[in-house]
Amino acid sequence: MHMHRFFVPPEWIDGDRLTISGKQGHQIKNVLRLRPGDRIVALDGTGVECEVRILDITTLEVRGIVEQRRACASEPKLEITLYQALLKGSKFETVLQKCTEVGVSEFVLFESERCVTTPPEPSRLDRWRRIVVEAAEQSRRGRVPGLRGMIGFGEACHEIDGLAIMPWEGERRRSIREALQSRRNPSVSSSSVEGDRVKKLSIFIGPEGGFSASEVELAESKGIVPVSLGKRILRAETAGLVATAAALYEYGEM
Ligand code: SAH
Repeated sequence: MHMHRFFVPPEWIDGDRLTISGKQGHQIKNVLRLRPGDRIVALDGTGVECEVRILDITTLEVRGIVEQRRACASEPKLEITLYQALLKGSKFETVLQKCTEVGVSEFVLFESERCVTTPPEPSRLDRWRRIVVEAAEQSRRGRVPGLRGMIGFGEACHEIDGLAIMPWEGERRRSIREALQSRRNPSVSSSSVEGDRVKKLSIFIGPEGGFSASEVELAESKGIVPVSLGKRILRAETAGLVATAAALYEYGEM
């Protein structure tokens, strides 16, 4: 039977007791109209999931008892950080929702020379976080992907850890597959390699106008590998999703 899943602040779980208030409480009481005896899954965001039986529902809160606790098995072993150049709001929302479903671990929004959109209002970030949480619940993730931004392109290039690739439509030789299969990439530090696999992958996606030549050059100087996603030109909101799926497939996570 499918149980509804909720990410809750860890402090709401106290031993085998769970107390839910706020939005999630409202959702349980008034939207899903669950009743005492019904079961839900509470996730503390660290990869642990608790199966909870609802004991009682008051106007203020929903109380339940933890009947089972287990590690959530759905998180990919490959941690993917998707660096996405600032996109129009609604397009970025699509990226957040779809890439959370597929398995991105963190989203970082960055500024790029050919970005045409103005930086987001702080209220957008709240909305975007809700989209990520809902997508994580719906897709049965064990963790809520992080969301950061805006940062500069140089800063983004500087913080990479593990293997980093930059899908670039100007790349003619190296396919994404080749880059993901190469273990000897200069940007792969030994601490982030397990066996012959990297544990962390960064993917850099450019804006609608693409990356400038100097951005590609800077990225390469930092060990970020330009790759081709094929001979079709994908939209900025499509490319991250495709690269993420390709990487998880290559790593046996599909
Ligand atoms: N304006 C550019 C396309 C930009 S597409 C042009 O018309 O040539 C937006 C982003 O998607 C790019 O910056 C790149 O990161 C990615 N992308 C799209 N298609 C790609 C492809 N075939 N190979 C690699 N990256 C691609």
